Amino acid sequence: MPAPQSILDAIDARFDDTCDELVALSRIPGVSAAGFDPKELDRSADAVATILGNAGLDEVEVLRIADAHPYVVAEKRSPNDDVPTALIYAHHDVQPPGRLERWETPAFEPTLRADGRLYGRGVVDDKAGLMLHAAALRAWLASGEPLPMHVKVIVEGEEEIGSGHLAQFLREHRERLAADVLVLSDTQNLDTGIPSLTASLRGIVQVDVTVRVLDHPLHSGMWGGPVPDAATALSRLLGRLVDDAGRPAVPGLDSDVPALSAAERSALAALPYDEPAFRRDAGLLGHVPLVRERDFTPYEQLWLRPSIAVTALEAMPFATAANQLVDEARARIGVRVAPGQDPARVARCVIDFVTHAPPYEAQVEAVAVAEVPGWRTEAEGPAFDAARRALAAGFGCDAVTIGCGGTIPFVGPFGEVMGGVPQLLLGLEDPPCNAHGENESLDLDDFRKAAHASAHLLPELAAALAG
Ligand SMILES: [Zn+2]
Repeated sequence: MPAPQSILDAIDARFDDTCDELVALSRIPGVSAAGFDPKELDRSADAVATILGNAGLDEVEVLRIADAHPYVVAEKRSPNDDVPTALIYAHHDVQPPGRLERWETPAFEPTLRADGRLYGRGVVDDKAGLMLHAAALRAWLASGEPLPMHVKVIVEGEEEIGSGHLAQFLREHRERLAADVLVLSDTQNLDTGIPSLTASLRGIVQVDVTVRVLDHPLHSGMWGGPVPDAATALSRLLGRLVDDAGRPAVPGLDSDVPALSAAERSALAALPYDEPAFRRDAGLLGHVPLVRERDFTPYEQLWLRPSIAVTALEAMPFATAANQLVDEARARIGVRVAPGQDPARVARCVIDFVTHAPPYEAQVEAVAVAEVPGWRTEAEGPAFDAARRALAAGFGCDAVTIGCGGTIPFVGPFGEVMGGVPQLLLGLEDPPCNAHGENESLDLDDFRKAAHASAHLLPELAAALAG
């Protein structure tokens, strides 16, 4: 059952106000990473509480647990006791702004540009993820119509640093947050205008590798020739991680990737894929080819296969370079693991590989610094069908089921602590949005459509879960 037209009209009538609230919220530089002022997260939590209160929610509270940035919780009970409960999740912290000179408009002065997108840090990740539901709830609560289901909201303050306290927080407040369905509002759409439900996430393994060949740096003129250097040794070692085409070459890396059924593969193959757009959104230069694994479609490779990249590299900075043979060099090897893979096993594979027969018999130390599993759900059943209907009604086109190549560490624990109820992952990131990078942006048309979809979601879920 869709939401009444009057509620959609109310969302549209106040859409400018909703955008103004999003802009005001995004002006607060609530960066959760170490080294940034944590008081800004107190400010953003207070601002979120005000927004939820103004939308008409009750029991709005900023809650704290030790050593964590503040959470905001709120709820609104339907006048009908006998209806199910949805718990909506979003986060109010943001990534650091990155290289300020790369922002065409300032990171924390959200700016609408001619392309219809709002630019600013946090606008899409994840402040719009909160605001789309706030706009829908405000319209429902101002309408005089009974709210179709009980709604609870949790807004986290440390998602961008790994949600280290979320499981503890959920356990401490389990009664208060108990729900029949979770609506996790922090993922992406396959493309602008295509509403998407995310059914899988990759995990992440990070291995830090340090290579030493000397006990101190040496003059490269006095010693170079007979004596090797650590930077070259590390480069040769890292080069072994992939084959000539760039495909992972670590033996056993993918040996525990769950096989897909024929139906799953054909569903992936049926998704629209536009290679020129993919290249453009990625920013690939010139004729740099995509790295292709034989037998796997692009989406399978991106969402359901392991990938490997060097994500940090240190030897000698240019600023202090001095014609030396470098004694020590290090790198971080980042592996995205497929859902279903054992991250500890993958880490062992990588460590064994880089410590075996190193170039120049260098001393190699390798240690896993992150081992986060992926996640996957069967996106089937009444709650998922209800979500697809709501998204289709909001966006005016069919919703698709997708995976995500990224890692959201909280999703697995969230489902476990909340008793395995259905988890609906949706959000507003799209290929051009550049979340986490400079010039992060939000498509305002999709923002409005997503608010409509949220308004539809409540009656759709209420009907689906009651039956
Ligand atoms: Zn996010």
